Amino acid sequence: MLRSLLLASSRSPLMRKAVSELPATRRVVDRFVAGETTADAITVVRRLTGAGLTVTIDHLGEEVTDQQTAVLATKAYVTLLDALKPLGLGQRAEVSVKLSAIGQTLDRGMALDHARQICAAARACGSMVTLDMEDHTTVDATLETLQALRADYPETGVAIQSCLYRSEADCRDLADARVRLVKGAYRVPPSHGYQSKAEVDRAYVRCLRVLMAGTGYPMVATHDDRLIAIAEVLAGQHGRDRDAYEFQMLYGVRPDRQRELIESGARVRVYVPYGDDWYGYFMRRLAERPANVAFFLRAVRG
Ligand code: FAD
Repeated sequence: MLRSLLLASSRSPLMRKAVSELPATRRVVDRFVAGETTADAITVVRRLTGAGLTVTIDHLGEEVTDQQTAVLATKAYVTLLDALKPLGLGQRAEVSVKLSAIGQTLDRGMALDHARQICAAARACGSMVTLDMEDHTTVDATLETLQALRADYPETGVAIQSCLYRSEADCRDLADARVRLVKGAYRVPPSHGYQSKAEVDRAYVRCLRVLMAGTGYPMVATHDDRLIAIAEVLAGQHGRDRDAYEFQMLYGVRPDRQRELIESGARVRVYVPYGDDWYGYFMRRLAERPANVAFFLRAVRG
């Protein structure tokens, strides 16, 4: 109930204004967002990579409704990747891209062209791109764009959401690719996806089995200890070394667990969002966990 309300609020311009104007919001947002500028993002990336982690950097923004904003978002990624190059960080830092931020809802051809520019800049600094997955209505378009990108940039990855009925089949189709498996952060209707946590978790394990058995590179994006343990067992059963898959977690979520995994010899990548369009991302983080809402309310009350 609370989750549905928060996810609905993540798309409400009125709520955006109200939440953004609360003085305490910034403090809470800072826990999940690396800052507003490229320099802020790079400071965080240097700290995390210095501690043995790898990162995937997200320039915040989604559902842009004009071409100029889509062009600016594309340029932000290219600028970021160009800045990583002289620092030699391309190998440890990849980027995550929401196609809706670079124009998918306006013109799919334009978004593909923008994504190609980002892939080219990534390759030039030894980095890679992963496409985030947005709500269920965008999956076909995202996978079509992925296919077009992989023709020239086969290293391009994509997120797949276990909450969707279709995802096990999508994992089979993508078993040779870099796939980030997530539970799913958007509302999904019963016609398209599982409604209970138990069903989403079981589907996650089925998708993991497919990916671990495949020839691609599974990216196990979860903070759920049970699923982390299952991923390690499945990787062992399929003879995967620790560098043949990785765990991923969000910036600001379970940093101690991230370190523990690194110390155990696992590969861990942290998803680092930056930029000023943090509202949708922030509301999805609140929706994921009642404790995050409590943390927010405590900050608001001062
Ligand atoms: P949950 O069931 O939410 O949590 C499982 C357990 O993890 C909890 O019971 C708790 O023990 C622990 N936990 C969770 N959060 C916290 C916390 N804040 N503090 C302490 N413990 C905690 N979703 C998309 O739809 N598209 C994407 O492209 C996408 N990309 C992502 C990339 C990364 C790297 C990650 C980690 C997530 C991404 N997500 C994406 C979000 C994802 O779909 C989930 O909404 C989110 O990861 C929460 O699910 P969970 O697997 O952690 O499990």
